[in-house]
Amino acid sequence: MTDPIAPNARHVDAPVPDAFDAIVVGGGPAGATAAHELAHRGLRVLLLDRAGRIKPCGGAIPPRLIADFAIPPQLLVAHARCARMVAPSGQRVDIPIEGGFVGMVDREHFDEWLRERAAAAGTLRVDGKFERLERDADGTAVVHWRGGQGAAHARARFVVGADGARSEVARQAIEGWDRGKFVFAYHEIVAKPDLPPAGYDPSRCDVVYDGTLSPDFYGWVFPHGNTLSIGTGSADKGFSLRHATALLRERVGLAGAETVRREGAPIPLKALPKWDNGRDVVLAGDAAGVVAPASGEGIYYAMASGRMAADSVAQCIAQRSPAPLAHARKQFMKEHGRVFWILGVMQHFWYRNDRRRERFVSICRDKDVQQLTFDSYMHKRLTRKRPMAHVRIFFKDMAHLLGLVRA
Ligand SMILES: Cc1cc2nc3c(=O)[nH]c(=O)nc-3n(C[C@H](O)[C@H](O)[C@H](O)COP(=O)(O)OP(=O)(O)OC[C@H]3O[C@@H](n4cnc5c(N)ncnc54)[C@H](O)[C@@H]3O)c2cc1C
Repeated sequence: MTDPIAPNARHVDAPVPDAFDAIVVGGGPAGATAAHELAHRGLRVLLLDRAGRIKPCGGAIPPRLIADFAIPPQLLVAHARCARMVAPSGQRVDIPIEGGFVGMVDREHFDEWLRERAAAAGTLRVDGKFERLERDADGTAVVHWRGGQGAAHARARFVVGADGARSEVARQAIEGWDRGKFVFAYHEIVAKPDLPPAGYDPSRCDVVYDGTLSPDFYGWVFPHGNTLSIGTGSADKGFSLRHATALLRERVGLAGAETVRREGAPIPLKALPKWDNGRDVVLAGDAAGVVAPASGEGIYYAMASGRMAADSVAQCIAQRSPAPLAHARKQFMKEHGRVFWILGVMQHFWYRNDRRRERFVSICRDKDVQQLTFDSYMHKRLTRKRPMAHVRIFFKDMAHLLGLVRA
């Protein structure tokens, strides 16, 4: 291994060295985490990120993320202490977050902080758009990009594709890249009015289930300190997310509030069948399709998979073998596959029509359901200690589904 790059090396106009142990494409939570982990191990890392766009995102992060990735409190712009589930009839169920909170981050600052942490560990940051992956005469990967200085390229022993949903790295290097499933999510960042509407609570996240707001997902109102994220998502291309968001804003009394930004992006809802090419490329985050079904939560999973991709690259380098590349996906599925499966079934069952949405919100009153949701979202675990609770939830679910219980 050659000398690691000096800490805090930051690309401005300096020439880029022509070879790296790893080039990470994409500087969102997945890529910045992978770059940080790799540089921290003394490897030569280049982080290539297309600058200038803030990732559209509700910005809700669970305590497990804050703990696992040492996120400092100053990055949290709000603390949510209650989740309100709203049914099509207007029925509401408040789920208090006892003894904890969900953190809210602004992606503009959160992502930049993660990239800077990677730089402080020795990553070389480059602003540019990944264009293509080629091979030189000995088969080494050559990453080509276009940045402020025009076209450029560098060689890499390994490439981490963390360039988000519809990843270009995946398209060029990974078999089965086209097997992803997506919802399109759209939100408006709204300035909190000086006089907030009646019932507004800056520490409550509202999750709204209603076919007029989304035929197959949900709408949300998330507080962010001085702003709010109000949005919705759907896989139905004919459904107007803008119109639905306008309806939701009207409903919560924020139709007239100042709109700071309008933006949207696809959310993948299915992990790709392969994350690596068996040679020198591995995917992480949205590029690999790892967002939780039903909730659309992706930041934690992007960072967890970024860390796993970095681990697998470091193992490949240590063992001089490409075999460990496949460990990233295996490890991820071992840790999170079951929760993803359950959430996928839940989405399939409950997000179908308003009758089911109504029942779904009803079952959220149940303490066992609240505990299960709490454990799986906040702590990323399903409590093995209480298997009977899972059995009870299953039977309650079935009873609701079959209409044996009134909503
Ligand atoms: C509207 C909306 C709301 C959401 N709300 C939440 C939420 O509240 N909580 C939650 O946990 N998740 C939420 N998500 C999901 C979450 O935003 C993603 O799962 C997460 O950002 C994935 O991180 P990532 O690093 O894999 O990809 P991204 O965050 O998409 O980062 C990819 C990076 O790659 C760069 N890039 C892309 N193409 C290239 C290229 N060709 N060359 C160089 N760089 C490139 C991009 O500029 C970007 O910096 C939401 C998503 C949407 C769309």
